[in-house]
Amino acid sequence: MQSAKFKSGRFFLGRLEYDSDVVKSITDFARSKKIKTGVFTLIGAVKSAKLACYNQDKKEYLVVELKKPREIVSCIGNISYHKGKPFAHAHVVLADERGSTRAGHLLGAQVFAAELHMQELIGPKLERVPDKLTGLALWKLRRG
Ligand code: ZN
Repeated sequence: MQSAKFKSGRFFLGRLEYDSDVVKSITDFARSKKIKTGVFTLIGAVKSAKLACYNQDKKEYLVVELKKPREIVSCIGNISYHKGKPFAHAHVVLADERGSTRAGHLLGAQVFAAELHMQELIGPKLERVPDKLTGLALWKLRRG
C-alpha cells in the first residue's frame, strides 16, 4: 500500500446548476475554492450521461452513452492534481425509471438536479502520474 496522511479541511454542500455538466461543475467548484485534494459524494438526477469502463487488457476505456434521464443512486470521487491542476475523478451508479442500474467511471453527465458534498483534505500534494503497469494516471505516494 502507498499512502499519505491528510487532515480535514473545509466541508461544502452545494447544488449544481440545471443543465450543467457534473464533472465540469465539480472540477470548476474545486478549482474556484482552491481545493487541491478532497473527497466528494453526489446524489440527484441527470438527463443523460457518458460512462466509461476500463478494458485492462487493451488499456483503454470503453465509452457508454446513456441518453435517457436517470437517478444518481451514488456518485463518489476524489480531487487530486492531474496535469498540474485539481482534477475530479468520479464513479457513478445510475438507475433508470425501473430501478435498473448502469455504472462506471463518469466522463460527463447533464444535470437535472444534483447535490454535492465536498470534503477538502489538507496535506501533501497528491498528484496523478502515468503508471506503466496499468496504463492509468495514478497517485504517486510513499510506501507504508
Ligand atoms: Zn475511474
